[in-house]
Amino acid sequence: MRVIAIDGPAGSGKSTVAKAVAGRIGLPYLDTGAMYRSVAFAALRRGVDPADEAKVAEIARTFELGMGDDGTVRVDGVDATIEIRGPEVTRAVSIVAANSGVRAEMRDRQRAFAKARGGAVMEGRDIGTVVFPDAELKVYLDADPEVRAARRSKEVTELSYATVAADLARRDALDQGRADSPLAVADGALIIDTSGLSVEEIVDRVTDALDAGSEAP
Ligand code: C5P
Repeated sequence: MRVIAIDGPAGSGKSTVAKAVAGRIGLPYLDTGAMYRSVAFAALRRGVDPADEAKVAEIARTFELGMGDDGTVRVDGVDATIEIRGPEVTRAVSIVAANSGVRAEMRDRQRAFAKARGGAVMEGRDIGTVVFPDAELKVYLDADPEVRAARRSKEVTELSYATVAADLARRDALDQGRADSPLAVADGALIIDTSGLSVEEIVDRVTDALDAGSEAP
């Protein structure tokens, strides 16, 4: 099983790079952030407080999550592709992701996804540190906070730059500071500062590292 783990904070370029790497090497791609967002969406939709640990963990264990190869996401039979990226879910997701019951369930689903498909390029916050510490290649993407906020701001046109930057800083702090599987650089990870790099340059660095790894004795 070939697993490539790509971690890093929001706006570091993970999704774009992970998709491109998956395409180049012919492996399925999994956006694990979309899974945590889907749990948050399911909780909000049922009127459950995202901070209610027991109830939200129960939702994570029992809800129906469908992730299409085309990036569509269905939660309990409802198309949630757009809403999981919206401000309400974005505000709630880090609380949901700090819930150990939720994390245990998502970890199981992520491992099963790769196992069923002979591997994956998986992006998130804890893939190289916790989900697949033995991945063939672990990558940690980072970028200056202003660069990350500017990238996100371009995607989320309905919010001001200041709102996006503040949300990013808040999520960074929560994701790095939580007790269970905080965002951190995995042992042996290839660290790439993507601030001044094009997507193509980043993807080249990742595939060069894969080639170098496969040539090693
Ligand atoms: O990648 P994205 O920004 O969509 O992730 C949304 C949130 O999901 C993150 O801020 C983080 O709280 C959580 N997450 C996580 N572990 C992962 C992927 C995402 O905790 N592997």
